[in-house]
Amino acid sequence: MTCYDLAFRNRGDMPLSEGHLFPGLLVNYMDRVSPSIRSRIMGCIRGKNTQPELRTRKYLYAAGCRYRLHDSRLSGCPDLVFATKRICLFVHGCFWHGCPKCSDGRRKPKSNRDYWLPKIQGNRQRDRQHVSDLRAAGWTVLIIWECETMDVKNLERLLKTILRKRTW
Ligand SMILES: [Zn+2]
Repeated sequence: MTCYDLAFRNRGDMPLSEGHLFPGLLVNYMDRVSPSIRSRIMGCIRGKNTQPELRTRKYLYAAGCRYRLHDSRLSGCPDLVFATKRICLFVHGCFWHGCPKCSDGRRKPKSNRDYWLPKIQGNRQRDRQHVSDLRAAGWTVLIIWECETMDVKNLERLLKTILRKRTW
C-alpha cells in the first residue's frame, strides 16, 4: 500500500504533502488513526513539490536560474541546489517547520499536542542540523518560508541574493 492509499483510502482525490493539504485537515485526520499508522504516514511526508516550492521554482526559472532539485546527496536533501554558486535553498512549510514569521508557524494543534509539538520541534532541530552540516561543507544556505513565497517582493529579494553570490 502506498502512503497515499494509507492516508486517504477514503478520499483518494487528496494528495498527501505539506503544500497540498491544509495542515488542519491532516491534523484532524491523523488524530483519528492509530500511532503506528500515523508514524508511517509522517515518514512518507517529504514535502517535495509543494505549492510554495513550485511558486519559488517557477519564479527563479523564469528569471533564468537553473538548479538541481531535491539533491539527496546533500544534508537535508535541499529543495533547490545552485551547484556553481554553491547555494542550497530550502522552501519550508510554515506549520511543519515552525515559521517564526507568521501565525501558521505559531499555531499549536489543540488535540494530541504531545504528538505534534515534539514532531515540529524535531523538524526544527533537524533543519538547524542540516544548515550547519551544509555550511561546514562550504555551502551557502538560504531558506524561504511558505508565507514569504506569497509576496513576489520576497522572491525578487531571493533572486538578487542568488545572483549576487560570486561563483569564484
Ligand atoms: Zn510563515
